[in-house]
Amino acid sequence: MSESADPRNTVVIIGAGPAGMSAAVYAKMSAVDVTLLEHVAPGGQILRTHGIENYLGFPSGTSPFDLVAKWQEHLASLNIEVTSNTVAKIIPGEPIVVVNGAEEKIECKCVVIATGARPRLLGVPGEWELFGKGVSTCAVCDGNFYRGRTVAVVGGGTTAVEDVMHLARLVKKVYHIHRRDQLRLAGETSGELAKLDNVERVFSSNVEEVLGKEGVTGIRVRSVKDDSVRELAVDGVFMAVGIAPNTEFLEGMLKTDDKGFIVTKEDMSTSVPGIYAAGDVRHTVLRQVCTAVADGAIAGLSVAKFITGVSLW
Ligand code: NAP
Repeated sequence: MSESADPRNTVVIIGAGPAGMSAAVYAKMSAVDVTLLEHVAPGGQILRTHGIENYLGFPSGTSPFDLVAKWQEHLASLNIEVTSNTVAKIIPGEPIVVVNGAEEKIECKCVVIATGARPRLLGVPGEWELFGKGVSTCAVCDGNFYRGRTVAVVGGGTTAVEDVMHLARLVKKVYHIHRRDQLRLAGETSGELAKLDNVERVFSSNVEEVLGKEGVTGIRVRSVKDDSVRELAVDGVFMAVGIAPNTEFLEGMLKTDDKGFIVTKEDMSTSVPGIYAAGDVRHTVLRQVCTAVADGAIAGLSVAKFITGVSLW
C-alpha cells in the first residue's frame, strides 16, 4: 500500500498463493489499493508439489517454480508488492485493522484471507519428537536426503500417491501405508503406481508409533483386518494424511466447518462483513490451483463491489 493509500479504498490480502495473487490482480484492476501480505515466500503450497499436471494450457505439465515466477511477473506488471510478515490478528470494524507482525497496524475496508492449508500429522507417539529428524511432510523438499535408503509414505490421497511415485525414483524402497484396502484414485496414475517394483503396499494398516531416538529407525503398524502388528525398518516417514487450514490467527471470529475451513458464500464473503476468504482455506469440494485462482478472482471482484459499489455481476 502506498503512503497515501486511503483505507476506505484498500483491501489487505493475506497469503500470496494462487488465490491471494489472483485476488490481488482482480482487485487492483478494479482500481482498489492492494496490500498483499505473505509470511513465507510467494507461491503457496504448490511449491511443495512435484509438477502441475492438470492446469489448463500446459498439456505437458509445468514446474511449480515456473508458474509462480509468471504469477510474480504479473503482480509486478501491476505494481503489486508482496510484503513479508506474519499476520497476528484481524480486528473487525470500520475500518478493519490487520495487525501485521508484532505491531504494524494496517487499516482497510476489506480483507481477503487466502492463507491456504498445511499438511496434517497423525498424532501418534514419536511423530512430533522426530519431526525434521526423519519425519517429514514434504517429499519434494526432503526426498533427496533418502537416496538409496528405505522410507514410508502414509496416506491414500493424491499427495501420498505423488510422494510415493517421486520417492520411488530416489530411494531403495518405499513402504506405502494406507488405512483402507484400496486407493480412491483410479486411472492412469494408479496403474503407474502399481508398476513400481520398489514399492511395497502395506494397506488396511495404521501407523501406531514412529520409532527412533536421534532419528527415525522404524514405524510400528497395526493391521485393521487382523490386528497384527509389524515393525518396519525405515529411515524416513513422509506423512501425507490431508491438510488443515491456516486459520489460527482468526481466533474463531469467522464461521467454519467442522474441520476449521472457513465457510463462504458464492461471492467468497464470510460471516463478517468486509472479510472474504479464497482458496484452500475455505470450505470447498475441490482444492486445485485452478479453483484457488477462480476463488481469488471472485474475491477480488467482490471486494471491488464492496468498496466501490460497482458490481460486475
Ligand atoms: P486427502 O485427499 O485428504 O487425503 C488424505 C489421505 O490421508 C486419505 O487417504 C486419508 O484416508 C488419509 N488419512 C487421513 N487421516 C488419517 C489418519 N488419521 N490415519 C491414516 N490415514 C489418514 O489429502 P491430500 O492428498 O493431501 O490432498 C489434499 C487436497 O489437495 C485434495 O483436494 C487434493 O486433490 C489436492 N491435491 C492436488 C494435487 C495436484 O493437483 N497435483 C496434489 C496434491 C493434493 P482415507 O482415504 O481413509 O480418508
